[in-house]
Amino acid sequence: MGIKKRGLLLVISGPSGAGKGTICKELMEVSKEHMRLSISATTRAPRDGEKEGVNYFYKSMQEFESMIKEEEFLEYAKIYDNYYGTPRKAIFDELDKGNDVILEIEMQGAMQIKKAYPEAVFIFILPPSLLELKHRIVGRGTETLEQIEKRFGSAYNEIKLIGDYDYFIFNNVVEKSVDDIKNIVGAEKNKVGRYKRQVLEMFEKEIKEC
Ligand code: ADP
Ligand code: 5GP
Repeated sequence: MGIKKRGLLLVISGPSGAGKGTICKELMEVSKEHMRLSISATTRAPRDGEKEGVNYFYKSMQEFESMIKEEEFLEYAKIYDNYYGTPRKAIFDELDKGNDVILEIEMQGAMQIKKAYPEAVFIFILPPSLLELKHRIVGRGTETLEQIEKRFGSAYNEIKLIGDYDYFIFNNVVEKSVDDIKNIVGAEKNKVGRYKRQVLEMFEKEIKEC
């Protein structure tokens, strides 16, 4: 006996270089049976080693704008001169199947999700310090010096938005951050408020049969 729980929508944000991508990749490795990583659409060019349909769906400006018109996105935002958006249908299909879905998106998009789907769980990933953040962005070696300055320059303003999130994690050690997220998922899945109606319906049905 029990109830069929709808999947959780996890929204993960934090400044560029904090380690969101690394954590989500590791989380997917250890929870692949019931966890799905949403693949966003973007107008930015693929980085070396990135693949269509694996990292992003790469779109032209025109294609992206037509998807906006067709209301294909649950949220979208323009960041560092490019569009990024979360495809709506794929997410709800997975949640309905009972799978948890991770969105790794920045704060403007996260706040749109908060309005459109307040049941989502909002997690903010912090670097241990701004100096370490800079080392990580530079060490990743995927951006030009100008892009690094732009991303690092926005970091503190982004951190100031932490009050809109439910949980924060200092990403010191990747494995520990992944464990923290797994614990958050476990706790959220046992919250009365999320499943009260289903639990009461289950016992109501049973008591009629007793
Ligand atoms: P984001 O997705 O938040 O922009 P990434 O996951 O790309 O960040 O991580 C940025 C860089 O920092 C990468 O080179 C990654 O290997 C490294 N990194 C991520 N987490 C840690 C950590 N806990 N300790 C040390 N380096 C890390
Ligand atoms: P990057 O270019 O480094 O892959 O991503 C840049 C920023 O865009 C990151 O902060 C990332 O979290 C965010 N991002 C990726 N996909 C989406 C999306 O679908 N929507 C929004 N709003 N942000 C996204």
